[in-house]
Amino acid sequence: MSSLAKNYNRRQISFKKGKGSYLYSNKGKRYLDFVQGIAVNSLGHANNYLIKAINNQAKKVWHVSNAFKIPEGEKLAKRLTGKTFADAVIFQNSGAEATEVAIKVARRYFYSIGQKKKNRILCVKNSFHGRTLAAIFASGSKKMTEGFGPKVDGFDHFAFGDHKALIKSITSKTAAIMIEPIMGEGGIKVIPEWCLKELRKICNEKKILLILDEVQSGVGRSGKFLSYEYSKIIPDIVPIAKGIGGGFPIGAVLMTKKVAKHMSPGTHGSTFGGNPLAMSVGNAVMDQIFKKGFLQNVKIKSKFFFKKLNEIQSNYSNVIEEVRGKGLLIGLKLKVDQTKFINKLFENKLLTIKAADNVVRILPPLNVSNKEITIALKIIEKVCKSYN
Ligand SMILES: *Cc1c(COP(=O)(O)O)cnc(C)c1O
Repeated sequence: MSSLAKNYNRRQISFKKGKGSYLYSNKGKRYLDFVQGIAVNSLGHANNYLIKAINNQAKKVWHVSNAFKIPEGEKLAKRLTGKTFADAVIFQNSGAEATEVAIKVARRYFYSIGQKKKNRILCVKNSFHGRTLAAIFASGSKKMTEGFGPKVDGFDHFAFGDHKALIKSITSKTAAIMIEPIMGEGGIKVIPEWCLKELRKICNEKKILLILDEVQSGVGRSGKFLSYEYSKIIPDIVPIAKGIGGGFPIGAVLMTKKVAKHMSPGTHGSTFGGNPLAMSVGNAVMDQIFKKGFLQNVKIKSKFFFKKLNEIQSNYSNVIEEVRGKGLLIGLKLKVDQTKFINKLFENKLLTIKAADNVVRILPPLNVSNKEITIALKIIEKVCKSYN
Protein backbone atom coordinates (compact mmCIF):
# COMPACT_ATOMS: atom_id res chain seq x y z
CA MET A 1 0.00 0.00 0.00
CA SER A 2 1.33 3.37 -0.99
CA SER A 3 1.51 6.11 1.60
CA LEU A 4 1.10 8.69 -1.11
CA ALA A 5 -2.27 10.37 -1.38
CA LYS A 6 -4.24 9.26 -4.38
CA ASN A 7 -4.54 12.57 -6.20
CA TYR A 8 -2.81 11.15 -9.28
CA ASN A 9 -3.88 8.41 -11.60
CA ARG A 10 -0.44 6.87 -12.03
CA ARG A 11 0.58 4.31 -14.61
CA GLN A 12 1.97 1.18 -12.95
CA ILE A 13 5.55 1.69 -14.03
CA SER A 14 8.66 3.37 -12.68
CA PHE A 15 12.02 4.12 -14.19
CA LYS A 16 15.55 3.52 -13.01
CA LYS A 17 17.26 5.87 -15.46
CA GLY A 18 16.88 8.02 -18.52
CA LYS A 19 19.11 9.17 -21.33
CA GLY A 20 18.10 11.74 -23.92
CA SER A 21 14.75 10.74 -25.42
CA TYR A 22 14.66 7.39 -23.63
CA LEU A 23 13.55 6.09 -20.24
CA TYR A 24 14.51 2.66 -18.85
CA SER A 25 11.97 0.94 -16.63
CA ASN A 26 12.78 -0.98 -13.47
CA LYS A 27 11.91 -4.12 -15.41
CA GLY A 28 14.64 -3.31 -17.95
CA LYS A 29 12.38 -2.13 -20.78
CA ARG A 30 13.26 0.92 -22.88
CA TYR A 31 10.63 3.54 -23.68
CA LEU A 32 10.76 6.45 -26.11
CA ASP A 33 9.71 9.28 -23.82
CA PHE A 34 7.62 11.83 -25.70
CA VAL A 35 6.17 13.21 -22.47
CA GLN A 36 9.45 14.44 -20.94
CA GLY A 37 7.75 15.34 -17.68
CA ILE A 38 5.15 17.32 -19.66
CA ALA A 39 7.44 19.64 -21.63
CA VAL A 40 9.80 19.97 -18.69
CA ASN A 41 12.95 18.10 -19.77
CA SER A 42 13.63 20.39 -22.71
CA LEU A 43 17.06 18.80 -23.27
CA GLY A 44 16.02 15.21 -22.54
CA HIS A 45 17.03 12.99 -19.63
CA ALA A 46 20.45 13.08 -17.98
CA ASN A 47 21.85 15.77 -20.25
CA ASN A 48 25.63 15.90 -19.72
CA TYR A 49 25.84 19.67 -19.91
CA LEU A 50 23.13 20.10 -17.27
CA ILE A 51 24.69 17.41 -15.07
CA LYS A 52 27.97 19.35 -15.11
CA ALA A 53 26.23 22.64 -14.34
CA ILE A 54 24.30 21.28 -11.36
CA ASN A 55 27.31 19.40 -9.99
CA ASN A 56 29.55 22.45 -10.24
CA GLN A 57 27.04 24.62 -8.43
CA ALA A 58 26.26 21.92 -5.85
CA LYS A 59 29.89 22.05 -4.71
CA LYS A 60 29.71 25.83 -4.21
CA VAL A 61 26.41 27.08 -2.76
CA TRP A 62 22.91 25.58 -3.08
CA HIS A 63 20.75 28.12 -1.42
CA VAL A 64 20.91 31.59 0.02
CA SER A 65 18.02 33.84 0.93
CA ASN A 66 16.80 36.53 -1.42
CA ALA A 67 17.87 38.85 1.38
CA PHE A 68 21.24 38.65 -0.38
CA LYS A 69 22.39 39.20 -3.95
CA ILE A 70 22.41 36.06 -6.09
CA PRO A 71 24.75 36.52 -9.09
CA GLU A 72 23.50 33.36 -10.87
CA GLY A 73 19.96 34.80 -10.81
CA GLU A 74 21.18 38.23 -11.95
CA LYS A 75 22.80 36.48 -14.88
CA LEU A 76 19.74 34.43 -15.82
CA ALA A 77 17.45 37.46 -15.53
CA LYS A 78 19.81 39.51 -17.72
CA ARG A 79 19.74 36.79 -20.36
CA LEU A 80 15.94 36.41 -20.22
CA THR A 81 15.44 40.15 -20.65
CA GLY A 82 18.10 40.22 -23.37
CA LYS A 83 16.26 37.58 -25.39
CA THR A 84 12.67 38.73 -24.84
CA PHE A 85 10.36 41.74 -24.57
CA ALA A 86 10.93 41.85 -20.82
CA ASP A 87 12.79 44.41 -18.73
CA ALA A 88 12.57 42.57 -15.40
CA VAL A 89 12.12 39.06 -13.97
CA ILE A 90 10.84 37.55 -10.71
CA PHE A 91 11.86 33.93 -10.10
CA GLN A 92 9.58 31.29 -8.61
CA ASN A 93 9.59 27.49 -8.39
CA SER A 94 6.65 26.40 -10.52
CA GLY A 95 4.16 27.38 -13.17
CA ALA A 96 1.24 28.07 -10.87
CA GLU A 97 3.38 30.34 -8.73
CA ALA A 98 4.51 32.18 -11.84
CA THR A 99 0.91 32.73 -13.03
CA GLU A 100 -0.06 33.91 -9.54
CA VAL A 101 2.76 36.43 -9.55
CA ALA A 102 1.64 37.56 -13.01
CA ILE A 103 -1.78 38.30 -11.50
CA LYS A 104 -0.21 40.08 -8.53
CA VAL A 105 1.92 42.25 -10.83
CA ALA A 106 -1.13 43.23 -12.91
CA ARG A 107 -3.21 44.16 -9.86
CA ARG A 108 -0.36 46.00 -8.20
CA TYR A 109 0.17 48.06 -11.34
CA PHE A 110 -3.37 49.45 -11.34
CA TYR A 111 -3.29 49.89 -7.57
CA SER A 112 -0.10 51.91 -7.88
CA ILE A 113 -1.39 54.20 -10.62
CA GLY A 114 -4.47 54.98 -8.55
CA GLN A 115 -7.00 52.74 -10.32
CA LYS A 116 -7.68 50.49 -7.36
CA LYS A 117 -10.95 49.11 -8.71
CA LYS A 118 -9.24 47.65 -11.75
CA ASN A 119 -8.35 44.23 -10.37
CA ARG A 120 -10.25 41.59 -12.33
CA ILE A 121 -8.53 39.17 -14.70
CA LEU A 122 -10.29 37.96 -17.82
CA CYS A 123 -9.46 34.35 -18.76
CA VAL A 124 -10.54 31.66 -21.19
CA LYS A 125 -13.13 29.26 -19.81
CA ASN A 126 -11.52 25.85 -19.17
CA SER A 127 -8.00 27.16 -19.61
CA PHE A 128 -5.14 25.99 -17.40
CA HIS A 129 -2.97 28.19 -15.23
CA GLY A 130 -2.02 25.77 -12.45
CA ARG A 131 -3.51 24.23 -9.33
CA THR A 132 -3.23 26.82 -6.57
CA LEU A 133 -6.52 28.27 -5.31
CA ALA A 134 -6.27 31.42 -7.42
CA ALA A 135 -5.08 29.50 -10.49
CA ILE A 136 -7.95 26.97 -10.43
CA PHE A 137 -10.51 29.75 -10.23
CA ALA A 138 -8.64 31.56 -13.03
CA SER A 139 -9.12 28.46 -15.18
CA GLY A 140 -12.89 28.61 -14.83
CA SER A 141 -13.01 24.82 -14.87
CA LYS A 142 -15.79 23.15 -12.94
CA LYS A 143 -13.80 19.96 -12.56
CA MET A 144 -10.74 21.65 -11.07
CA THR A 145 -12.64 23.91 -8.67
CA GLU A 146 -15.26 21.44 -7.45
CA GLY A 147 -15.12 21.12 -3.66
CA PHE A 148 -12.53 23.84 -3.25
CA GLY A 149 -14.74 26.80 -2.49
CA PRO A 150 -15.29 29.45 -1.44
CA LYS A 151 -14.62 30.79 -4.88
CA VAL A 152 -11.54 32.96 -5.24
CA ASP A 153 -13.04 36.07 -6.74
CA GLY A 154 -11.48 38.33 -9.31
CA PHE A 155 -11.74 36.25 -12.47
CA ASP A 156 -14.11 36.51 -15.42
CA HIS A 157 -14.34 34.12 -18.33
CA PHE A 158 -15.17 33.92 -22.00
CA ALA A 159 -15.35 30.89 -24.28
CA PHE A 160 -12.28 30.11 -26.42
CA GLY A 161 -12.74 31.69 -29.85
CA ASP A 162 -15.76 33.79 -28.88
CA HIS A 163 -14.46 37.27 -29.68
CA LYS A 164 -17.78 38.99 -29.11
CA ALA A 165 -18.00 37.55 -25.62
CA LEU A 166 -14.44 38.59 -24.95
CA ILE A 167 -15.12 42.24 -25.83
CA LYS A 168 -18.37 42.20 -23.85
CA SER A 169 -16.65 40.77 -20.77
CA ILE A 170 -14.18 43.65 -20.50
CA THR A 171 -15.49 46.09 -17.87
CA SER A 172 -14.12 49.11 -16.06
CA LYS A 173 -12.85 46.64 -13.45
CA THR A 174 -10.81 44.54 -15.85
CA ALA A 175 -7.08 44.79 -15.20
CA ALA A 176 -5.79 42.19 -17.63
CA ILE A 177 -6.55 39.47 -20.10
CA MET A 178 -4.65 36.27 -19.33
CA ILE A 179 -4.42 33.56 -21.96
CA GLU A 180 -2.22 30.67 -23.05
CA PRO A 181 -1.00 31.41 -26.61
CA ILE A 182 -1.14 27.64 -27.09
CA MET A 183 -3.59 25.93 -24.75
CA GLY A 184 -1.68 22.90 -23.51
CA GLU A 185 -3.85 20.99 -21.04
CA GLY A 186 -6.89 22.32 -22.88
CA GLY A 187 -6.07 20.25 -25.97
CA ILE A 188 -3.17 21.94 -27.86
CA LYS A 189 -5.30 24.73 -29.23
CA VAL A 190 -3.14 27.33 -30.96
CA ILE A 191 -4.33 30.93 -30.79
CA PRO A 192 -3.79 32.27 -34.33
CA GLU A 193 -1.32 35.11 -34.85
CA TRP A 194 -4.02 37.50 -36.08
CA CYS A 195 -5.97 36.81 -32.90
CA LEU A 196 -2.99 37.64 -30.65
CA LYS A 197 -2.54 40.87 -32.62
CA GLU A 198 -6.24 41.68 -32.09
CA LEU A 199 -5.90 40.94 -28.38
CA ARG A 200 -2.98 43.33 -28.12
CA LYS A 201 -4.99 46.01 -29.91
CA ILE A 202 -7.98 45.51 -27.63
CA CYS A 203 -5.75 45.72 -24.54
CA ASN A 204 -4.20 48.95 -25.84
CA GLU A 205 -7.58 50.49 -26.57
CA LYS A 206 -9.00 49.52 -23.19
CA LYS A 207 -5.72 50.36 -21.42
CA ILE A 208 -5.52 46.95 -19.80
CA LEU A 209 -2.61 44.48 -19.56
CA LEU A 210 -1.96 41.39 -21.63
CA ILE A 211 -0.65 38.35 -19.72
CA LEU A 212 0.48 35.44 -21.87
CA ASP A 213 0.88 32.19 -19.94
CA GLU A 214 3.83 30.52 -21.66
CA VAL A 215 4.44 28.00 -18.87
CA GLN A 216 4.02 25.11 -21.32
CA SER A 217 4.51 26.77 -24.73
CA GLY A 218 7.62 28.77 -23.81
CA VAL A 219 11.36 28.09 -23.70
CA GLY A 220 11.79 26.93 -27.28
CA ARG A 221 8.90 24.44 -27.32
CA SER A 222 7.21 26.23 -30.26
CA GLY A 223 10.40 26.79 -32.26
CA LYS A 224 10.69 30.34 -30.92
CA PHE A 225 11.85 31.08 -27.37
CA LEU A 226 8.33 32.27 -26.52
CA SER A 227 5.51 31.08 -28.75
CA TYR A 228 3.75 34.45 -29.08
CA GLU A 229 6.88 35.82 -30.84
CA TYR A 230 5.49 34.47 -34.13
CA SER A 231 2.83 37.20 -33.89
CA LYS A 232 5.40 39.97 -33.24
CA ILE A 233 3.25 41.58 -30.53
CA ILE A 234 4.63 42.78 -27.18
CA PRO A 235 2.88 41.43 -24.08
CA ASP A 236 3.06 43.05 -20.65
CA ILE A 237 3.61 40.00 -18.45
CA VAL A 238 4.66 36.43 -19.33
CA PRO A 239 4.92 33.61 -16.80
CA ILE A 240 7.19 30.73 -17.85
CA ALA A 241 8.24 27.55 -16.03
CA LYS A 242 8.22 23.96 -17.32
CA GLY A 243 11.09 24.01 -19.84
CA ILE A 244 13.36 26.62 -18.27
CA GLY A 245 14.84 24.29 -15.64
CA GLY A 246 15.29 21.28 -17.91
CA GLY A 247 13.86 19.15 -15.07
CA PHE A 248 14.80 21.37 -12.14
CA PRO A 249 11.79 23.26 -10.72
CA ILE A 250 11.95 26.89 -11.84
CA GLY A 251 9.23 29.42 -12.56
CA ALA A 252 9.75 32.97 -13.75
CA VAL A 253 7.65 36.00 -14.52
CA LEU A 254 8.88 38.21 -17.33
CA MET A 255 7.54 41.75 -17.45
CA THR A 256 7.98 45.23 -18.85
CA LYS A 257 9.42 48.04 -16.73
CA LYS A 258 6.05 49.77 -16.83
CA VAL A 259 4.58 47.11 -14.52
CA ALA A 260 7.81 45.94 -12.85
CA LYS A 261 8.52 49.31 -11.31
CA HIS A 262 5.61 48.92 -8.91
CA MET A 263 6.92 45.65 -7.45
CA SER A 264 8.82 47.51 -4.77
CA PRO A 265 10.66 45.84 -1.85
CA GLY A 266 8.25 43.72 0.20
CA THR A 267 5.51 43.40 -2.43
CA HIS A 268 6.47 39.82 -3.23
CA GLY A 269 8.84 37.15 -2.03
CA SER A 270 9.72 33.48 -2.24
CA THR A 271 12.02 31.44 -0.02
CA PHE A 272 13.24 29.12 -2.73
CA GLY A 273 12.58 31.19 -5.85
CA GLY A 274 15.76 31.98 -7.77
CA ASN A 275 18.21 30.09 -5.56
CA PRO A 276 21.76 29.54 -6.88
CA LEU A 277 21.26 25.84 -7.66
CA ALA A 278 18.12 26.50 -9.74
CA MET A 279 19.62 29.53 -11.44
CA SER A 280 22.77 27.64 -12.48
CA VAL A 281 20.66 24.99 -14.16
CA GLY A 282 18.50 27.68 -15.80
CA ASN A 283 21.61 29.35 -17.20
CA ALA A 284 22.82 26.00 -18.56
CA VAL A 285 19.46 25.44 -20.29
CA MET A 286 19.74 28.91 -21.84
CA ASP A 287 23.30 28.11 -23.05
CA GLN A 288 21.92 25.17 -25.00
CA ILE A 289 18.69 26.69 -26.31
CA PHE A 290 20.45 29.78 -27.64
CA LYS A 291 23.25 27.83 -29.28
CA LYS A 292 23.42 28.76 -32.94
CA GLY A 293 20.84 26.80 -34.92
CA PHE A 294 19.14 25.14 -31.91
CA LEU A 295 15.73 26.80 -32.31
CA GLN A 296 15.99 26.56 -36.09
CA ASN A 297 16.49 22.83 -35.58
CA VAL A 298 13.34 22.60 -33.46
CA LYS A 299 11.44 24.13 -36.41
CA ILE A 300 13.00 21.72 -38.90
CA LYS A 301 12.21 18.68 -36.72
CA SER A 302 8.72 20.00 -36.18
CA LYS A 303 8.11 20.44 -39.91
CA PHE A 304 9.17 16.85 -40.57
CA PHE A 305 7.08 15.51 -37.67
CA PHE A 306 3.96 17.44 -38.71
CA LYS A 307 4.29 16.47 -42.38
CA LYS A 308 4.46 12.78 -41.50
CA LEU A 309 1.72 13.01 -38.86
CA ASN A 310 -0.55 14.71 -41.38
CA GLU A 311 0.13 11.87 -43.83
CA ILE A 312 -0.83 9.35 -41.14
CA GLN A 313 -3.92 11.41 -40.37
CA SER A 314 -5.09 11.38 -43.97
CA ASN A 315 -4.50 7.61 -44.20
CA TYR A 316 -6.25 6.92 -40.89
CA SER A 317 -8.86 9.66 -40.73
CA ASN A 318 -11.08 7.10 -38.97
CA VAL A 319 -8.67 7.30 -36.00
CA ILE A 320 -7.12 10.79 -36.06
CA GLU A 321 -9.32 13.81 -36.67
CA GLU A 322 -6.65 16.49 -36.67
CA VAL A 323 -2.98 17.17 -35.96
CA ARG A 324 -2.58 20.31 -33.85
CA GLY A 325 0.14 22.43 -32.31
CA LYS A 326 3.32 24.27 -33.05
CA GLY A 327 6.96 23.30 -32.87
CA LEU A 328 7.31 20.25 -30.66
CA LEU A 329 4.08 20.89 -28.75
CA ILE A 330 1.93 18.49 -30.72
CA GLY A 331 -1.58 17.17 -30.26
CA LEU A 332 -3.48 14.41 -32.04
CA LYS A 333 -7.19 15.04 -31.80
CA LEU A 334 -8.64 11.54 -31.95
CA LYS A 335 -11.86 10.03 -33.14
CA VAL A 336 -11.20 6.99 -30.96
CA ASP A 337 -10.81 6.85 -27.18
CA GLN A 338 -7.64 8.70 -26.12
CA THR A 339 -6.88 6.45 -23.13
CA LYS A 340 -6.98 3.28 -25.21
CA PHE A 341 -4.87 4.90 -27.93
CA ILE A 342 -2.26 6.06 -25.39
CA ASN A 343 -2.22 2.56 -23.85
CA LYS A 344 -1.54 1.05 -27.26
CA LEU A 345 1.33 3.49 -27.85
CA PHE A 346 2.62 2.52 -24.41
CA GLU A 347 2.48 -1.18 -25.25
CA ASN A 348 4.67 -0.29 -28.22
CA LYS A 349 7.10 1.55 -25.92
CA LEU A 350 6.14 5.10 -26.80
CA LEU A 351 5.17 7.39 -23.92
CA THR A 352 2.63 10.16 -24.59
CA ILE A 353 0.08 11.95 -22.42
CA LYS A 354 -3.48 13.07 -22.76
CA ALA A 355 -4.91 16.57 -22.91
CA ALA A 356 -8.54 17.72 -22.82
CA ASP A 357 -10.75 17.44 -25.90
CA ASN A 358 -9.72 13.80 -26.58
CA VAL A 359 -6.21 14.86 -27.57
CA VAL A 360 -2.99 12.86 -27.27
CA ARG A 361 -0.08 15.14 -26.44
CA ILE A 362 3.31 14.50 -27.97
CA LEU A 363 6.20 16.33 -26.29
CA PRO A 364 9.63 15.09 -27.34
CA PRO A 365 12.74 16.77 -25.94
CA LEU A 366 13.75 19.77 -28.06
CA ASN A 367 16.98 18.01 -29.06
CA VAL A 368 15.17 14.89 -30.32
CA SER A 369 16.71 13.23 -33.38
CA ASN A 370 15.00 12.56 -36.71
CA LYS A 371 15.65 8.88 -36.09
CA GLU A 372 13.70 8.98 -32.82
CA ILE A 373 10.86 10.89 -34.49
CA THR A 374 10.77 8.23 -37.20
CA ILE A 375 10.53 5.46 -34.59
CA ALA A 376 7.63 7.29 -32.94
CA LEU A 377 5.89 7.75 -36.30
CA LYS A 378 6.14 4.00 -37.02
CA ILE A 379 4.56 3.21 -33.65
CA ILE A 380 1.79 5.77 -34.16
CA GLU A 381 1.06 4.37 -37.63
CA LYS A 382 1.05 0.81 -36.29
CA VAL A 383 -1.44 1.74 -33.58
CA CYS A 384 -3.65 3.57 -36.12
CA LYS A 385 -3.57 0.46 -38.32
CA SER A 386 -4.79 -1.68 -35.41
CA TYR A 387 -8.18 0.12 -35.63
CA ASN A 388 -8.82 -1.10 -39.21
C1 LIG B 1 1.67 23.36 -16.32
C2 LIG B 1 1.07 24.68 -16.47
C3 LIG B 1 0.90 25.54 -15.37
C4 LIG B 1 1.17 25.10 -13.96
O1 LIG B 1 2.49 24.75 -13.73
P1 LIG B 1 2.87 23.96 -12.39
O2 LIG B 1 4.38 23.96 -12.42
O3 LIG B 1 2.27 22.61 -12.48
O4 LIG B 1 2.35 24.72 -11.25
C5 LIG B 1 0.40 26.81 -15.60
N1 LIG B 1 0.08 27.22 -16.85
C6 LIG B 1 0.22 26.43 -17.92
C7 LIG B 1 -0.13 26.94 -19.28
C8 LIG B 1 0.70 25.12 -17.77
O5 LIG B 1 0.81 24.32 -18.83
